[in-house]
Amino acid sequence: MNKKVLILKRKVKYARLEVDLEGLRIIAPENFQISTDEIFQKHRKWIWQKIERLEEIKKISETLELYNHEDLKEMVNFFVEDIGKILKIKPERVVFRKMKVRWGSCHHEKKTIILNKSLKFLPKELIRYVVLHEMCHLIFRNHKNYFWLLIKKLDPNFKEKEKLLAGYRLKLNCYYDSIKHAKRQNNYW
Ligand SMILES: [Zn+2]
Repeated sequence: MNKKVLILKRKVKYARLEVDLEGLRIIAPENFQISTDEIFQKHRKWIWQKIERLEEIKKISETLELYNHEDLKEMVNFFVEDIGKILKIKPERVVFRKMKVRWGSCHHEKKTIILNKSLKFLPKELIRYVVLHEMCHLIFRNHKNYFWLLIKKLDPNFKEKEKLLAGYRLKLNCYYDSIKHAKRQNNYW
């Protein structure tokens, strides 16, 4: 495996592993004594599964087309009404924010769904899926089995859509990073 392995000693209670396309990070307590070989042996399967999924997401991200919906809010309102009729529940508020990691979230008590402004770059059916996903959290807060059962009932292709969403996230983060990078370079010129 030609990936970077980084060991970071932190004030943490337990060691944890993080995998991305660049490599593997081991975040460990300061007194942690274990070799990287041992860690690889112990968690080989998990590490490979993670890497395989990341490679798959990367491949997907390369094929995706970016949109630019000017009417994101109207579109979302339409989906909220439409899905509201099916679920018999509607959010009291829909808020749009800049978010780096997530496409949306749901504040269960406040009956509020928060959506990523970058949804405007996604195809319509994925925007609808994100709204559906967050609205299902108005019913079930967590990602437990019954949550996914409800999602599956309403959208049998949800697994495919979750992958596409991960692909779009990667694509957009790379896109923003390249803009940042270009800006930084401009500063030097
Ligand atoms: Zn969720």
